[in-house]
Amino acid sequence: MHAQGHSPATSTNYSCKDSHENIWVSRSGIDKASILPDDFIPIDSLGNPLPPFQHLIPSAETAIHRFLYEHFPKTQVILHSHELYSVLASQRMPEVCFQGYELQKAFVGVLSHEEEVRIPIIPNSQDMNDILSQLILRKEALKYGLFSIENHGYYTWGATLFEAKRSAEAFAYLCKVHFLINRN
Ligand SMILES: [Zn+2]
Repeated sequence: MHAQGHSPATSTNYSCKDSHENIWVSRSGIDKASILPDDFIPIDSLGNPLPPFQHLIPSAETAIHRFLYEHFPKTQVILHSHELYSVLASQRMPEVCFQGYELQKAFVGVLSHEEEVRIPIIPNSQDMNDILSQLILRKEALKYGLFSIENHGYYTWGATLFEAKRSAEAFAYLCKVHFLINRN
């Protein structure tokens, strides 16, 4: 994701669940060009690092990860992206809508290009409680396994890394199409 310019300037964060149901979140403020397995730390139910990792700081957006694992129990991997076209498309609050595109079938539960797929866009905030409140309000709209944050980026999740990555790539592609079509 960094190589494709989706995580510039230390931005974005990632997480996964291990076989013991522990959640591992990427550390805050690290350069994603050189991220390593050691940059993931396990967190408790409040989002604090488990021993012996208490001296490390998990991502500032850890609460979003915890929320998604709690409300979508099949989730094993969460990806976050600051991909440019998704940020441009995110200015069309409160949702970005796709219909007629083959690649929208990459999203969970979408079987046809003819379906209307509405991906929610929520307001950005530095207060994670604001973001969590929006996610609760719009939980039904999260059924495709992704959402976007205005002028920020997007989250995808899945039962595997493959599934989360597939959604992330499709969303970036469709946002680029959306932007290019609507730029005039
Ligand atoms: Zn972010």
